[in-house]
Amino acid sequence: MAMTGISLQNVSKHFDAGETVANHQVNLEVEDGEFLVLLGPSGSGKTTTLRLIAGLETPTEGDIYFGDRRVNDDSPSDRNVAMVFQNYALYPHMSVKGNIAYPLKVRDVTPEEREDRIREATELLHIDDLLEKKPAELSGGQRQRVSLARAIVRKPSVFLLDEPLSNLDAKLRLEMRSELKRLQSELGITAVYVTHNQEEAMSMGDRIAVMNEGTIRQVAEPEELYRRPKTTWVARFIGSPPMNLLQGTRRNGAVELASGGSVSTDADGASGDVSLGVRPEDFTVSTEPPSGYSIQGTVDTVEPLGEYTIVNVSVEGRIVKAKEPTTTVERGDDVYLLFDDSDVYLYDDRGELLS
Ligand code: ADP
Ligand code: MG
Repeated sequence: MAMTGISLQNVSKHFDAGETVANHQVNLEVEDGEFLVLLGPSGSGKTTTLRLIAGLETPTEGDIYFGDRRVNDDSPSDRNVAMVFQNYALYPHMSVKGNIAYPLKVRDVTPEEREDRIREATELLHIDDLLEKKPAELSGGQRQRVSLARAIVRKPSVFLLDEPLSNLDAKLRLEMRSELKRLQSELGITAVYVTHNQEEAMSMGDRIAVMNEGTIRQVAEPEELYRRPKTTWVARFIGSPPMNLLQGTRRNGAVELASGGSVSTDADGASGDVSLGVRPEDFTVSTEPPSGYSIQGTVDTVEPLGEYTIVNVSVEGRIVKAKEPTTTVERGDDVYLLFDDSDVYLYDDRGELLS
């Protein structure tokens, strides 16, 4: 199967005569056979990026390459992409087999080859026993499998998926998540997958491109994205719950926290307002005054989630979240949130990672 890397170079897309900037100077390299996830909140420009890659939109500026071929002026069918959406539009009057065969019929694939490809795709998606059923007789998960089969049966060089699992219930979503990942790696096909769900992004992506306000904020492997969020915006978006950011001032190699106390940092003499980031799982909640670094507060609420417990601590009127395996503290308790200085992230007043 043909594979293709994708390159977006300074791609912008404006709507409404420039009033709406859906994509702003997007630079993105998707490698051959890679599973790249576009992750961002609603309205951040993910679908627009996908539609630009598909050829359903024309860039206002910039270039799009498939391999070394510039495809700006190529129609969607010339690009040989397959797109799967949240709303899998199957033809209701056609059988499963008819639906899957349809893109092959319109492409003049011979009947023998058609049969081979349908068998291959339906076996891969475990729907070979459903061929004669109508879409109305299928569950949501089965329908989504049919639309995936219909997409891959064409042997596209690029697979584009726009929140394809968001209409499924939680259990099915988990199941389809690993199934899709398996499918993509078995086919070795370049895939761009759009989601606003960070867990989906982390579990599926070879790399994740985080989008906000039409721009790409960071592209990294899931672990790297979690370990080194380059900006406070990304830090606030990744993690469950996301990183706590405490306001402070840097002076003489230490950060004085607005909520009291100070933390020493790699001394370089610089000064100014900073945000000190600590992940909820890097806090330990204690009722005893500790010897190391800590911030002081009062327990606001405790959320026991089984696998772990989130302790919401009110610190100078703001909620700081700690994640503990289990806890004995209760609402109203005065507590210390202990942390290690090696677990601290430091961001400057523009929200860029310092260390
Ligand atoms: P996402 O998929 O991340 O939710 P979209 O790419 O759909 O974001 O949209 C990004 C921005 O562009 C939004 O403000 C949206 O309203 C706007 N937009 C998208 N498509 C169009 C269009 N065809 N006409 C006008 N505005 C659009
Ligand atoms: Mg969208």
